[in-house]
Amino acid sequence: MIDARTHRSPNHEPREQAITAIVAHHGGGTAAGDLAWLCNPASKVSSHYYVTRAADIYQLVDDNQVAWHAGRSALAGAPDVNAFSIGIELEHTTEPEVIAAGHPRHTDWPAAQLEALAWLCREKMDAYHIPTSKVVSHRAVALPRGRKVDPVDAPLGPEEAFRAWVDATLGAPPVPPAPAPYTPSRPLLAPPGAPMVLVASRVPHGGAYTARDAQTIAEAYYRIAGAVGVDPVLALAQLCHETGGLSSWWAQLPRCNPAGIGVTGETHPLKGAAPGPGWESDGTIWKRGLSFGRWDPTAIEAHVGRLLAYARTDMQASPPQRALIARALAWRPLPAEFRGAAPTVAGLSGRWAADPAYAEKVARWANQLAGQ
Ligand SMILES: [Zn+2]
Repeated sequence: MIDARTHRSPNHEPREQAITAIVAHHGGGTAAGDLAWLCNPASKVSSHYYVTRAADIYQLVDDNQVAWHAGRSALAGAPDVNAFSIGIELEHTTEPEVIAAGHPRHTDWPAAQLEALAWLCREKMDAYHIPTSKVVSHRAVALPRGRKVDPVDAPLGPEEAFRAWVDATLGAPPVPPAPAPYTPSRPLLAPPGAPMVLVASRVPHGGAYTARDAQTIAEAYYRIAGAVGVDPVLALAQLCHETGGLSSWWAQLPRCNPAGIGVTGETHPLKGAAPGPGWESDGTIWKRGLSFGRWDPTAIEAHVGRLLAYARTDMQASPPQRALIARALAWRPLPAEFRGAAPTVAGLSGRWAADPAYAEKVARWANQLAGQ
């Protein structure tokens, strides 16, 4: 992007102050004439950069050297602006003798040249922590006032236009795009799609759970899912869908079953002992399904590890992910054909649950939790 080889200027001296400003100029001649003059030892002038109308950028002097572009000058009371600034000359023909020699006077600024200038300014603003207010025109710093008018012509001149261009182009940081709503194509492994403080307050508290309980459960999901790269919003969305916002019988203590894990709908008459492990009684009948005893970490690990097993094969999983998958599948195995079958929410439809609209329902909950 920057040619720092073909045009080098001997006109510089060691820099003793930190770089805190950028000064924009126009050269006034043609690119060839300006570059030759800025590199001519007899001229005693130079700039760090030269940007042509074709958006080529030449570096004439290294940043760590003082270039001679601003002359007698001051910025915010500090004299000798060269000492603490980067000088950028722009190709823009205005000198009468150059025009008399047959070169057209430039009155416009090509978009590509302005983009190159903006790009170069941003690079230097980032590198040296230069604020927008310290990107200045030569005319604003030259002494005595009125000694220089460059750069001229909109949008880099007059001074009000230059300030407006700098503020609009370099001022405010770009506004981050609004977060995308959840859809079935959302990956299960992703950073949290919304902040914990917002999501935790939106998890419904059904059954015997209080609002504080729901919030504590949500916070544990952020910790456990976040540690293995699962988007906690999606795990909580699945919890909300499967348990009706913590209101289902299976979600209550001591079962704490977050997502119908091992719940098959099978029942057994209450008379006699449980038919085996993985059966729970509601006082009238035995129901098949897993009881975890507590949410944090037991039930949440079983849930998040099971989601991970749908999203990743063991080959694709990191060691901490594999360890959590192993703990979760010890509760209930997962058919081999389901391993890695759901990198996105869509893969859960027809697998985690038979419902073909399962993924849409989980995504809807996720948007509700994320406030979208
Ligand atoms: Zn100048």
